[in-house]
Amino acid sequence: MTVIISKSKGPQKAKRSSIHTQVNPNPGRRIICPHCGNEWNFYQIAEEVKLTTRYVQNADGSFTPLTDDSRILGEVKLYCGECQADLSEFHNRFLEMLF
Ligand SMILES: [Zn+2]
Repeated sequence: MTVIISKSKGPQKAKRSSIHTQVNPNPGRRIICPHCGNEWNFYQIAEEVKLTTRYVQNADGSFTPLTDDSRILGEVKLYCGECQADLSEFHNRFLEMLF
């Protein structure tokens, strides 16, 4: 068995990296952990989540999930991914900037 690896010999397009990289277009909006300075890793914990999953039973008795519906009943907290500090004071801003 022969494996043919085709190498493209076409002209290599040199991609010019734009000089003006927008790393921080709006510094005032960024959430930065006041404890350790972390501004990249965060996690959110939702307490008391009610998870409803709808199923349909097939002819052979097996089930197929149709939809998942989750409702958060308790508090939702935001934490720093580096030092685990409670950053819930930034949670509203976090939600505004969540896309
Ligand atoms: Zn931190």
